[in-house]
Amino acid sequence: MRMILIAPPLHFYKNSDRIPQNIKFSSTIKCAVISGNSDLMYFTTKMPQLFSNRVAILATMHQKEIVIAPLLEQLGIKVIVPQNLNTDVFGTFTREIERPGTQIEAARLKAQKALALTGETLAIASEGTFCPHPSLPYISTNREIVIFLDKENELEIIGEEFSLETNHNFQIIQNIEEAYNFAKKVGFPEHGLIVTYDSPKNSGEIFKGIITDEQLEDAVNFALKNSSNGKVHIETDMRAMYNPTRMKNIEKATRNLLKKINTFCPSCGTPGFGITQRIKGLPCASCHTPTLLTRALKYQCKKCGFSQEELFPDGKYADPGQCMYCNP
Ligand SMILES: [Zn+2]
Ligand SMILES: [Zn+2]
Repeated sequence: MRMILIAPPLHFYKNSDRIPQNIKFSSTIKCAVISGNSDLMYFTTKMPQLFSNRVAILATMHQKEIVIAPLLEQLGIKVIVPQNLNTDVFGTFTREIERPGTQIEAARLKAQKALALTGETLAIASEGTFCPHPSLPYISTNREIVIFLDKENELEIIGEEFSLETNHNFQIIQNIEEAYNFAKKVGFPEHGLIVTYDSPKNSGEIFKGIITDEQLEDAVNFALKNSSNGKVHIETDMRAMYNPTRMKNIEKATRNLLKKINTFCPSCGTPGFGITQRIKGLPCASCHTPTLLTRALKYQCKKCGFSQEELFPDGKYADPGQCMYCNP
């Protein structure tokens, strides 16, 4: 079945990859709804003009513009990195400064500071965390978020990436050989290192951004000589410009942001129409008992409250291996 409807101005709503090649938009048709099987898609000829030719301030001291700027420029945005913004006051990985509030709150604060500092209306900031995996505590995980604030249109859109790809690690060492063993394990010298002694909180000396053998030996020898207990703390430098693995995750989070910016509320056309809830209960393929897997996704507009459910995003039935009756 295929039908073309005239509807309020919308931009493409769901998955651009699925737009059939043979669909042509005339300037008089504002929206086309193509319905086939269970898929429902919205398109429109109206392109998002909300952001084109605007300046966005990217709050970073760590060269995140390398991955963030080219992606946001696809929206016609000019990305600028202010030289006088110190994002370290919002928390550092080396624990010299504790981060205020949650990850999202910290990113939001950075973006708001960028707006206040420059008087602009569009800002971007990112924030990363590194935690043990919830069910595999020996595996480190990296969650990156990229926040997009538009003061003019009162919008806040957040892209995110949750990844097992991280070299986040630390070790206590007592000689240079141990330092080199650790360095090799975490991808040095492409990935930078940090050396401290005593505890990072009490230590006056901290060597960051170590990317050569010479810097590593100097830092470790100095720390060994000055350490109160002969022990030295060595860890991965997680700042984006010293950590290409993390930089990749920031890029993925930015791609996720872009996808959300390009997803529009079918009712009011506001960008950022995103998943707000995963509804469990996908039936078991064998006995049809509801499982813990996702049965539906709920999308909701932050602006007008319009919501929509997408049924069976991962298929109609759950593997019986996930069923508490078939596989207790
Ligand atoms: Zn809406
Ligand atoms: Zn079952």
